[in-house]
Amino acid sequence: MNRLHPPTAVLEIADRLEESGFEAWCVGGAVRDALLGHEHLDWDLATSATPVQVRELFGARRTIPVGVEFGTVGVLDRDGVMHEVTTFRRDVKTDGRHAEVEFGVSLEDDLARRDFTINAIAYSPRLVELRDPFGGQDDLVRKVVRAVGDPEARMREDRLRALRAIRFASRFGFAIDPPTYDAIASSAAFLGRLSPERVKQELDKTMEQVRRPSTALALWQSSGAFQTLIPKLHGLPRAALSVPDYLGVPGLRHRPARRTLRYAGMLARLGAQEAGAVLTALRGSRQEIQTVVALIDRWRALGDEMAAALTAAPPPTDAVVRRWVAAIGRLQVGAFMRLASAIWQAARAQGEPAPELSAVRAVYRRMQRSAFRDIIDLGSLAVDGDDLRRAGIPPGPGLGKILQALLTAVIDDPGRNATDWLLQEAMRLQGAASAGNADGSGA
Ligand code: ATP
Ligand code: MG
Repeated sequence: MNRLHPPTAVLEIADRLEESGFEAWCVGGAVRDALLGHEHLDWDLATSATPVQVRELFGARRTIPVGVEFGTVGVLDRDGVMHEVTTFRRDVKTDGRHAEVEFGVSLEDDLARRDFTINAIAYSPRLVELRDPFGGQDDLVRKVVRAVGDPEARMREDRLRALRAIRFASRFGFAIDPPTYDAIASSAAFLGRLSPERVKQELDKTMEQVRRPSTALALWQSSGAFQTLIPKLHGLPRAALSVPDYLGVPGLRHRPARRTLRYAGMLARLGAQEAGAVLTALRGSRQEIQTVVALIDRWRALGDEMAAALTAAPPPTDAVVRRWVAAIGRLQVGAFMRLASAIWQAARAQGEPAPELSAVRAVYRRMQRSAFRDIIDLGSLAVDGDDLRRAGIPPGPGLGKILQALLTAVIDDPGRNATDWLLQEAMRLQGAASAGNADGSGA
């Protein structure tokens, strides 16, 4: 299926450029994806107009200088949506991180500086014509990722290309052309020169775009990329690496949530503290780090116990289910169980023992119901701190401990959540605590 149909807004921008005597070509990911029959939202244009000319043509109000030094001007369409228009350019100097560019070159020059043949195809909507000087269409058919030009030299120019090749190969189910793979492997030792932000962005895109991220992560292992960038993940067994595969199918909805969950899956084996350190080094957002650390922390605390209970014959009691929900937190039950289920599925796929999916689903339903209905946090207890103070219990950490003990008792037996019983129990606990203090044995 051919989807070489750029949106009207992009066609209008291209027409406008061509009417003024400039060339305008659709390039990059959108052309590649269209030829593969996939949808692609951002259609980028390459043009012979310089950034200054693009700004003159569309006016200051409709243009945003997103990366003028690299030739990129954002042009707003009628709905205020931005489209990138980039001047044909050649990279004149690169040091593996930064590029210095030259304008005033041809489309062919511009395509030659692109990373892989499948990304170096241009399409002119006006001419209804493809320019494909490096055999990108053949490689799309052969399903290979192949560097444009000399792979070793291209990887040296920009080390990120090693990670990009892995991502494209795993995203499309392509092989990596052997000389290109060799250049990736020899790049691996130099990947430490990349900024953490660029590495993180590649991992983000892997988690967002790749249906089975483990295919990419396995290449990060075999090429040596993990060894340089995240050594803790280098020796991880397949069962641990494939957890993200079980965390959702690609799609545009809930992208950040799924990505975060996939990070938790990838890092679960390391434990909460190490996982936090990895994401901090990659400059993950505070929210992402907190979510991942909390999930893995809960997983490490409960995972083994849950697995044992879900493998044993009688299903867990309601009291046990309530205790799990209380430990995980009402709002985290969904994310936690998706993570747990993915870890168990990944283990089973490797022939390791883990609970059956049906048992996991059944307990998840019970946990959801419990999260909605049951008294699992202090806020729903029939007494609060004020009640206990009025009953004569002195404020302080002792009072907090008594409240927690009351909650545990109610989680165990919800019938106890009555003011009378709770106050009586609180007085009993207070009496026991002061007796303990009096005889010097501590509370
Ligand atoms: P995605 O779907 O991930 O956005 P894409 O191919 O559109 O894939 P972009 O990162 O958006 O990738 O880049 C757009 C185009 O710019 C690429 O198709 C490629 O031609 C070129 N390009 C991007 N990054 C590099 C790079 N590091 N080296 C050479 N060319 C690159
Ligand atoms: Mg893109």
